[in-house]
Amino acid sequence: MIYEAIIGLEVHAQLLTDSKIFCGCSTKYGSPPNAQTCPVCLGMPGVLPVLNKKTVEYAVKMVLAVGGRINEESFFARKNYFYPDLPKGYQISQYEKPLAYGGFVEIDLSHGKPKVKRNKRIKIERIHLEEDAGKSIHIENKDSKTLVDMNRCGVPLMEIVSQPDLSSPEEAYLYLGKLKQLLEYLEICGCNMEQGNLRCDANVSVRPEGEKNLGIKTEVKNMNSFKGVEKALNYEIERQIDILKSGGRIKHETLLWDEEKEKVSFMRTKEVSPDYRYFPEPDLVKLVVKRDWIEKIKRTLPELPDHKKERFLKKYKIPEYDASVLTSSKNLADFYEEGLKFYSAPKILSNWIMGEVLRELREKRCEIGDLRIKPEDLAGLLMLVDDGIISGKIAKDVFKEMVDTGRKAKEIVKEKGLVQVTDKGQIEKVVEEVLKKNKENVNEYLSGKEKLFGFFIGEVMKKTKGKADPKLVNQILKEKLKR
Ligand SMILES: [Zn+2]
Repeated sequence: MIYEAIIGLEVHAQLLTDSKIFCGCSTKYGSPPNAQTCPVCLGMPGVLPVLNKKTVEYAVKMVLAVGGRINEESFFARKNYFYPDLPKGYQISQYEKPLAYGGFVEIDLSHGKPKVKRNKRIKIERIHLEEDAGKSIHIENKDSKTLVDMNRCGVPLMEIVSQPDLSSPEEAYLYLGKLKQLLEYLEICGCNMEQGNLRCDANVSVRPEGEKNLGIKTEVKNMNSFKGVEKALNYEIERQIDILKSGGRIKHETLLWDEEKEKVSFMRTKEVSPDYRYFPEPDLVKLVVKRDWIEKIKRTLPELPDHKKERFLKKYKIPEYDASVLTSSKNLADFYEEGLKFYSAPKILSNWIMGEVLRELREKRCEIGDLRIKPEDLAGLLMLVDDGIISGKIAKDVFKEMVDTGRKAKEIVKEKGLVQVTDKGQIEKVVEEVLKKNKENVNEYLSGKEKLFGFFIGEVMKKTKGKADPKLVNQILKEKLKR
């Protein structure tokens, strides 16, 4: 029997505001424990929460970006449970009527092969606002203890709940990537999974293919990287299929993913899980989001990734793959377009960004803004190649130096004497030397071993330190090696 998986994701995105959702405390990451707290976020008696308008604005941006419907009136509710890092004994969230319903994001399942274009819409169920809880730090040694840090209490979160539209771990991975891309374009979330800016829980069930009813689902928590989500889902789907195949029954439980052991552990079964006893938050008035405010926010939205990609395809006539890579982040796309103001061959610039620039970013594990090269400087380098002043190979070395020092291509080329040798006589001299020194190879070549041609080119380039114009070298060698 073939089984299919049904997955829904709940993604918590920390909104990039300076202060918390219901008080003025800072949200800065990495401060000393409990340094960013006040009576409100510590849940002292008699204090009142005041909603941070910016958090609503940011969440509205996301709803608009996915095409969701904003409720003109929504409500905050108390989700009651006891935990040491939850000082109030409840979390303020939205339950019965959230900020928004609906919308979707589109994922691309063509794996970089544009010919098999296969897009899938993942529908959004709801988007709502809530506050984060504190952090418990468990120290396990002979006098085990748990420390509590309340800095995270009241940090604003936006929860994005998808419909169970995902049918494989890979789709979940792509969906998360798409959400992250949108959050980054909108500049409303830091999206650093290690710092907990973006967290994800999954509801997973399996059923025999063709079956209409849903299977019993489990909830997988604690996945803190994109790859972790994919691995955890693969693991959980396999586990459920194995149980069903051996005639067992899936239990409705919550599981914790252990990234190190690459397996799940059982947290609690849902049958005994707490009833959160949601009720309307009496300390906050209803949240009213007026039409004209939404319109105002709409006007501040940047061009979104799908739209930008389409525009790049049309305007710059680059391949679909290039457009996807270049628009994968807003900063990269901006760098590309800025470069094109100074350089007029879109495909060549794209090749350089996808090749050399991205390689640098991977090696240095940094963002494009951290490199010391500016778009116009990269354009300047490429113009030197086009004008025949330096070879493409030398340009790569110059590029590396530009990235490290922030200097301009022209300066480096001039200082190091890297100008391409285009003087025919000069190259001829070197070619003759090389042929003289490698007589045996020349004879072999002349008796049919044509592969040796590359060897001669290599020798000439070595002798000229890569500065000889490759076209001329080729031409001269061919002339000299004629019998
Ligand atoms: Zn506070």
